[in-house]
Amino acid sequence: MSAIDDRQVRELVDLTAASLKQIAVIEGDDAAPEAMRPVIDLLQAQNLPISLVYPVVGQPAIDATGTPFPSEARNSIDSSAATLFGATSGPSGAALMYLRWGKNTYANVRPCRYFPGIASPLGNPAGIDFTIVRENLEDLYVAVEGDLSELDFLDKPGRTTRKPIRELGEGRYAIKAITRQGTERVVQFAFELARKRSKQNKVTCVVKHNMLRESDGFFLEVAKEVAEANSDVEFDHFIVDDFACRMIREPQRFDVIVMPNLYGDVLSDAAGGLLGSLGLAASGCYGDDYAYFEPAHGTAPDIAGKNIINPTATLMTVGMMMEYLGFTEFATRLDHAIEAVYAEGKTLTPDQGGSASTSDMVMAVAHVL
Ligand code: ATP
Repeated sequence: MSAIDDRQVRELVDLTAASLKQIAVIEGDDAAPEAMRPVIDLLQAQNLPISLVYPVVGQPAIDATGTPFPSEARNSIDSSAATLFGATSGPSGAALMYLRWGKNTYANVRPCRYFPGIASPLGNPAGIDFTIVRENLEDLYVAVEGDLSELDFLDKPGRTTRKPIRELGEGRYAIKAITRQGTERVVQFAFELARKRSKQNKVTCVVKHNMLRESDGFFLEVAKEVAEANSDVEFDHFIVDDFACRMIREPQRFDVIVMPNLYGDVLSDAAGGLLGSLGLAASGCYGDDYAYFEPAHGTAPDIAGKNIINPTATLMTVGMMMEYLGFTEFATRLDHAIEAVYAEGKTLTPDQGGSASTSDMVMAVAHVL
């Protein structure tokens, strides 16, 4: 069988495996739609069995219905196999809350992979290929905060301050919640991902258990239990500040890295810096029966309206979504097309040292696909 026949066979397998999949698309705010629209055009041109619906959320929904996240939008998300979300700021955040806490999408997966042509600030970026799995629902993001005076009843002194809270003076608090169930499922997810990636077959856990013995100590304790049950995959762990240094000094040594929410949020943006731009930071948030996909960067308001936002993160995010939906052949082809455009180096956006527009860069990828 010739190579072209092989590919056609794989495409046919994709097509038959995938019944029509509905995708909810929320384009996002500021510069995000400038990346989303051409990428959606590219996707639709593939003639794959997908249908797109556009839930109305945020300001347009407020204008039409008085609420930023009306029930029609929720129904449309619920009836879709996945949601693709452009970066958001402002009132469309209500939809994001639902996609995260309403749909229990507990594992935020943020890959960081170098390939030739990427304008990395590092001297030796070759071989960087790791994925951060950030716990997505707990930690400080349970967002239980308040005035310290609310804790006057707590007699327990701080381990470091040796004073009860009421003696600390005026201030605020935030609760860091780490649960067994929340930790077990995200660490198990990391192990399964390490197996699936078949790279170094390794999971690294990142915490600050020396300082936060109860909360991060528990995350690590549960991670070790999960590691024992997955002993075919290597396991190690680092303190978050030490890890931050290693991630920059020797990023090639990491494979899948699992961590509580806040560290994951910060370090995955820092990982974007290893590649020179947040414009390469793709992201997917997975639960047991739903997933949504959203580039890790923000709405890039400073470059809105200029058609120069780097579409790579959006393209790669779409690749992750299509793989989740069963279109593996397309996802692989898309990855290769992005790599080819970087290798050629002629059609890159300014953040990667080029002078191409967003739409030109997406067209270049579409051309290679
Ligand atoms: P948010 O609060 O939504 O995260 P922000 O402005 O703090 O927004 P980003 O929107 O991520 O953070 O932008 C940070 C910087 O990175 C900005 O200078 C922005 O232009 C740049 N940036 C982010 N995404 C991209 C992209 N896809 N292409 C090019 N530059 C980007």
